[in-house]
Amino acid sequence: LRTPRRILVTGGAGFIGSNFVHYWCDRYPEDKVVVLDALTYAGNRANLAELEMRSQFRFVQGDIGDRNLVDTLLSSEQIDTLAHFAAESHVDRSILGPGAFIQTNVVGTFTLLEAFRQHWENRLKPQKLDAEAVFLHVSTDEVYGSLGPDDPAFSETTPYAPNSPYSASKAGSDHLVRAYFHTYGVPTLITNCSNNYGPYQFPEKLIPLMCINALIGKNLPVYGDGQNIRDWLYVGDHCSALDAVIHRGKRGETYNIGGNNEVKNLDLVKMLCQLMDELAPNLPVQPCAELITFVKDRLGHDLRYAINANKIKTELDWTPSVTVEEGLRQTVEWYLTHRDWWEVLLSEEYQAYYRQVYA
Ligand code: NAD
Repeated sequence: LRTPRRILVTGGAGFIGSNFVHYWCDRYPEDKVVVLDALTYAGNRANLAELEMRSQFRFVQGDIGDRNLVDTLLSSEQIDTLAHFAAESHVDRSILGPGAFIQTNVVGTFTLLEAFRQHWENRLKPQKLDAEAVFLHVSTDEVYGSLGPDDPAFSETTPYAPNSPYSASKAGSDHLVRAYFHTYGVPTLITNCSNNYGPYQFPEKLIPLMCINALIGKNLPVYGDGQNIRDWLYVGDHCSALDAVIHRGKRGETYNIGGNNEVKNLDLVKMLCQLMDELAPNLPVQPCAELITFVKDRLGHDLRYAINANKIKTELDWTPSVTVEEGLRQTVEWYLTHRDWWEVLLSEEYQAYYRQVYA
């Protein structure tokens, strides 16, 4: 029989975090889910609106770097599971201003680890509540650096070689999590996942950016020659992978998560254009591919990421359920039917950021 969990989800108002909270509340109505989120530009309480009335759900606005707040939440909510999504997550913003990435991703993760270690040592262990306890650190494949066209995909033993301030800050936090398992025995898990896409993704990221720009008749900016390769995973499949890892993952281990869908950026944008032409026949510019514009490449742009997900498949029996064709179709439909959700996010701040990146 499954023991109900009491989960603290950091960054639960962001893209993957909010998808995870929806997934978890629907699947495990007996669990308590507490979201801690600072509501930065990327956090949006509207992502969780349908859950606000459920007694299993609680939202707390606050910073993961606020040690007193984290201590209070861990003890008052009797948390046994910490799912850590909160981060500064956008590579382009890390190039413009790396400071916030170090503060949240490195120092913030350290604060959470310290708070969880003490909670685990002083409460969970003495009260024999530690059997299910876990600190899950949600990370990225970008920590492994860049692959050449013929290199084998990243595995869990690939050496770290981060190239952007974002990936370096995530690498730093991964190392801290690893150290807390080896040094203190804190029951940790690390996941390194490829690019996610799906509902509730902030407009700055590639897929929503292209959908939204096509809908408002703006250019579709493609970095360099568009030949960079990414592996794409539907966000719902990432959530089911995290579920497998929390329930069955071996503490102290790392699991790579990927969709086995390597696509060149330009091909991805063309696929999106075809879907937009089909699903939104009244676009301002059609065919939508006429909007594709090549722009100056991102500094230090990694050529290729690819994930070898054999470990999670064989050890935890997880496989993705959505093909990239189905997932992209569902995602385009979501952005078409949720104009109210994204229109308010195209703020002055966002426009200023956009002009800086695509100048
Ligand atoms: P996101 O930017 O959409 O959301 C991040 C959330 O964290 C926001 O709600 C924000 O308000 C919150 N946050 C930021 N700083 C905070 C702080 N100091 N205290 C509390 N909350 C804070 O990010 P995402 O795309 O949902 O990514 C979630 C996690 O998954 C990140 O750790 C990221 O590194 C990792 N990841 C993302 C992808 C991807 O493709 N998006 C892939 C692999 C791993």
